[in-house]
This record gives sequence, C-alpha cells and structure tokens, in this order.
Amino acid sequence: MALQFKKICWSVTLFLILNPIISVLMLVLYLVFSDSYTLTQIISVSAFGLFFAVLTNLSITMGYHRLFAHKSFEAHPVLEWILLFISSGAFQGSALKWSSDHRIHHKYEDTEKDPYSIKKGFWYAHIGWMMTHKAVSLPISAPDLEKNKLIKFQHDYYLYCAIAVGYAMPLLIGWILGNAFLGIVIAGGLRIFLTQQSTFFVNSLSHTLGKTPYCLDKTAKDSLIVAFLTHGEGYHNFHHKFQFDYRNGIRWYHWDPTKWTIQLAALAGLAKKLKTVQFSEILKARLEVEAIKLKKSNLRTSAMYNEKLEVLSAKIVEAQAKFEKLKKEYSAAKDQKVIELRAEIELMNVEIDSMMRKWKILIRSAQAMG
Ligand SMILES: [Zn+2]
Ligand SMILES: [Zn+2]
Repeated sequence: MALQFKKICWSVTLFLILNPIISVLMLVLYLVFSDSYTLTQIISVSAFGLFFAVLTNLSITMGYHRLFAHKSFEAHPVLEWILLFISSGAFQGSALKWSSDHRIHHKYEDTEKDPYSIKKGFWYAHIGWMMTHKAVSLPISAPDLEKNKLIKFQHDYYLYCAIAVGYAMPLLIGWILGNAFLGIVIAGGLRIFLTQQSTFFVNSLSHTLGKTPYCLDKTAKDSLIVAFLTHGEGYHNFHHKFQFDYRNGIRWYHWDPTKWTIQLAALAGLAKKLKTVQFSEILKARLEVEAIKLKKSNLRTSAMYNEKLEVLSAKIVEAQAKFEKLKKEYSAAKDQKVIELRAEIELMNVEIDSMMRKWKILIRSAQAMG
C-alpha cells in the first residue's frame, strides 16, 4: 500500500478531485446563504461559462490534438497564439507535454507503453493515469514542437498561463457581468471540470463504446454519442487508422465541430494545407474490415463469398481511385474536356454505386446463410 501511495502524484490528483468539489460546494453555499446576486447575473455568467467551455474544448481538440500532436493542418501564428492561449485554461498540461504523450498513445496503442491504455481499465484511461508520477514525468519527445517559440513559451510558463486564463480571466469577466465570485466558480472551476471530462472521454469512452469500421486490431471505436460529448473526437476508430486526417468525422454531416472550425479558419485564411486521406484508401479499409468480420462470423459458408468479395473489393477501390483522379482533372480542365470528363465522372459514379450494391447483397446473403 505504501508503495502504491508513493506512485501517486498528489498535486495533480488533489487538483483533479478538489477543483470540482470545492467549486460545487462554494456555489451551493453562496446561492443558499448570500443575497448579493441576481438571477440575471447567474444566467449571464452561466452562458459565458458554457461558451467558454466550448471554446476551451475546441482549442484542445483543434490545437493540442489535430494541429500540434498530429500536424493535420498548418496554422497562421495568430491562430496558434489564440489556440495556445485559450487551451491553457483547460488545465490539461502544456501543448508540448500533451502532444508528446498523445503521440506515444498512437504509437503504442493498447500496449504496456501506451500512457493511457484502456487495457488497464476504464477509469485508469479516463483519469487514473494522470495521477501517477510515471505519467507526469513521462519524457517529452516532440523535437518539432520544441522548436516552436510560442509552444515553448506556453510550456515554460504553463502554470502562470493556466491560472491567468483558467481562473483570473473568468473572475474578470464575471466582474464585468456584475458578479466576480460567480465568474470564478462557474466559468472557472466548474468549466475546467466540464472541459477536462470531455477530453478524458476520448481516452476512455472512445476506446470502449462504438463500432470498428476501419480497423479491428485496435480498441479505438466510432460513436456518435461520444462525438457529441467530445466535439467530434468520437470517430476514434477512423482517427487511429488515419491519424493525419484533419477530420475525424469524414462525412459532411458527421458531428465534428472541430473539423468545421478548422474549415472556417481555412476560409478566414488562418489555416492551410488541411490533410485528408484519399477516399479510396478509406473505402479499402472499410471493405477489408467488413470482409474480415464476415470471415470470423461465418466460417462454414464464407469461402466462396470471400473470394467473390476480394475480387469485388479490389474493383471498387480501383474505380474509386480512378473517380478521384477524374475529379481532380475535371477541376483543372477547360472547354470541350470539361464535358467529356463530366460524362466520365457520372459513368464512374454509377459503376461504383452498382458495385457497392452488389457488395451489400453478397454480405447480406453470406450472413443469412451463416
Ligand atoms: Zn485513442
Ligand atoms: Zn490522436
């Protein structure tokens, strides 16, 4: 037991536990015993707190995660500064440490070296790992990020930045809205707790709840519910398969506010070189997973189907790659060539559609036979 206690990093542990407890307690006592607040103040400070919570979370998902850890797009220094400034108030460590830990998570997912491996339990992956000296002192390995002066500054003065943005700023805005105390408790302490839980869900729920459409050898899952809770990070199976794609939800309707914010930043000229994986590659991964799942669930009758599916899958992926190439040519084409390419694209689209229908029929009938 004494050995277990020695492993605990008390400063982090006490902060994670005491921040929400003290915030709730102070808020309840204040609302019950004080008469120096108004309903308007509660509503306005809570609205700001909620807005600030979303902003803080987006700065983590867009900044720490997709920009710094994965380099899935390039940001203007102004945007980098904004993201680093706001995310300091999330109390999740510096961008440098966070990104370095996260890269290790991707490299060693589900193994002993994964800092927040789900194999060590849901609560360990959610919050427990941060409470150990081992996690806090995990060496930083991100030389590319260390060269960035803004990131280095945030890392060197992290605690000051965190307190200034996480507590002092909400206090100031609360004061402007008429109640500094509500500002620090609601938009400070409670908001920090909310944003922390949202990020922590990516490490716990995203490796527990959902489907595995793109890779089966990892615990990461795709889930709409988790996507809602995490500002789009819930398409985690896709993310672990294609970590350099700036999107996690690849369809336009997939709930991924982080992706939409990056797109908005690109429109404003603050982000560029948004990386995406070719759709033919994504399709290839999906079809492979469907065929493997069928093979596993239907050992007796699947031999013939597997052969058919393999041939069809190769044809679909090839057609999709050709379709993407045609679309590129089309966007650069002129005059007569435009009409020719448009017709070719339409034909290719019909062909892919029909092959996909065949694929679905084959899978369905093989499943029915099993
Ligand atoms: Zn993960
Ligand atoms: Zn990631």
